[in-house]
Amino acid sequence: MSESWNKRTKLVHGGTRRSQYNEVSESIFLTQGFVYDTAEQAEQRFIELGEDEFIYARYGNPTVAMFEERIAMLEGAEDAFATASGMAAVNGALTSMLKAGDHVVSAKALFGSCLYILENILTRYGVEVTFVDGTNLDEWRAAVRPDTKAVFFESMSNPTLEVIDIKSVAEIAHSVGATVVIDNVFSTPVFSDAIAQGADVVIYSATKHIDGQGRVLGGVILGSKEYIRGTLEPYMKHTGGALSPFSAWVLLKGLETMDLRVQAQATSALAIAEALEGHAALQRTIYPGLASHAQNDLIQTQLGGKGGTVLSLDLKGGKDAAFKFLDALTIPVISNNLGDAKSIATHPATTTHQRLSDEQKVDLGIAPGLVRISIGLEDTDDLIADLKQALAAAS
Ligand SMILES: *Cc1c(COP(=O)(O)O)cnc(C)c1O
Repeated sequence: MSESWNKRTKLVHGGTRRSQYNEVSESIFLTQGFVYDTAEQAEQRFIELGEDEFIYARYGNPTVAMFEERIAMLEGAEDAFATASGMAAVNGALTSMLKAGDHVVSAKALFGSCLYILENILTRYGVEVTFVDGTNLDEWRAAVRPDTKAVFFESMSNPTLEVIDIKSVAEIAHSVGATVVIDNVFSTPVFSDAIAQGADVVIYSATKHIDGQGRVLGGVILGSKEYIRGTLEPYMKHTGGALSPFSAWVLLKGLETMDLRVQAQATSALAIAEALEGHAALQRTIYPGLASHAQNDLIQTQLGGKGGTVLSLDLKGGKDAAFKFLDALTIPVISNNLGDAKSIATHPATTTHQRLSDEQKVDLGIAPGLVRISIGLEDTDDLIADLKQALAAAS
């Protein structure tokens, strides 16, 4: 029955397990381990773990299992494994399936830590990685080979908000038998149905929209039962990237309100982008929900026309103007998270993307005047007024 629920019902009730007390709110099982009634039962659990049986929190925990089941239900995935952070999820998803001699094709516009895993870690263990412009299907076609084991990309890039065509890239990858692994943070679990589009493995940093209130780190990997239990789980449970039960509880409560929050944030982001587009102090207003976004058609089919919760503004006066703008803001805070209830402004060139060479920054469109703003739950008119006064202060 629960499989036929719509998204918002799944987000409130999916995966709920009640203890003998029949509590309303999900319980936090803050326990490292579980006791066995008998030696025979312990032996049996180490042979094969049944449904709702646990032996050690590094392998699984009832609160963590509730979170995994709820998000898997939402995404239409067979199974999920929760991790201590988004990066533990990216690392586990890739490292668990690759070995020396394998080939990976990746989009080059990546979150800094994702780039580090592909560029510096996988290559150290003999995995060959080819980087492509993720929006250019010809580059994907030219890069895949019979020994390509995985393709990796962020479905919406940070901070320039370019959208990658999941369906087309998945077709190219599947033609050589490669697994499609997607970091889907910017598309959000609310607007994207990456698995239906052809993704084999979908990753979220739960730190972002799933918590959405800046409290905990977390991550999740979604995919087939065979991949999650056969390939990923043995790697994760022996290498220690497990999600804390307390964080899992925070994330479960985050899922309950996620749809409402993310819908409201996206509606606000669109109104703000429309209000600022064409402003004299701006070179460019980037928001995937704007009619002017170069990939509007793809955004209609892949994201239901929704542009997510983040917009980027390219100020005419470069770094100097960007810093004046940031320092003049009174509502958005200067920080580097996103998807939060609080609006957050970031200068990617000097913070999240500081490590990139000048050449890489130019290649990825990370201009000195570019400011990324994650739109929160504040009043939209207050945000527009604040952003406008800060733009005036910057020019
Ligand atoms: C934040 C983020 C990550 C890493 O997540 P953490 O929870 O901080 O480890 C990975 N990919 C993308 C696209 C992100 O925005």
